[in-house]
This record gives sequence, structure tokens and C-alpha cells, in this order.
Amino acid sequence: MVKCLYCARKEGTYPVKKWNKDEILYFCEDHYKEAAKYEHDNKMQFYNHYSNEVARKTLPEESLQKWNKIHEEIKNSPSH
Ligand SMILES: [Zn+2]
Repeated sequence: MVKCLYCARKEGTYPVKKWNKDEILYFCEDHYKEAAKYEHDNKMQFYNHYSNEVARKTLPEESLQKWNKIHEEIKNSPSH
């Protein structure tokens, strides 16, 4: 069993994917939502910051692709 990254509890952990890399972190049910929100907030902070076209020009190619991917997700999301 994988331990929760916050409290080291081993039972019932859930995977949370890092928003900016192919890395999976594990959290128990008490910390899962918090961790998922943290990843989401970081992602949106990055997205919003580089929604400015001038700022986006400074991004390296790899990060620009991430931005484009988020942009597509948001565009295709029914809530937007
Ligand atoms: Zn925990």
C-alpha cells in the first residue's frame, strides 16, 4: 500500500496526478481533496498568468504545450 503523503496513513489512498508532470502522488481520503485542489489551483494560476499573450511568449516550448493543453481542456469543458 502507498502511504498518504501528508499523514502517512496507508489505508485507502487515492492517486493525485501532478498537474505539470507525469507524477502520481497518493493521499488518504482526508487529504485527497486538499491535494487535488492544490494541483488544480496551481494549474489555474499558471494558466491565468500566461493567458497574457505577452507573458506567454516567454514560455519555453514544453510549458507552452502545457498551457495549450489546459486551454483546450477549458474550452471543451461544458461549464465554460
Ligand atoms: Zn492523509
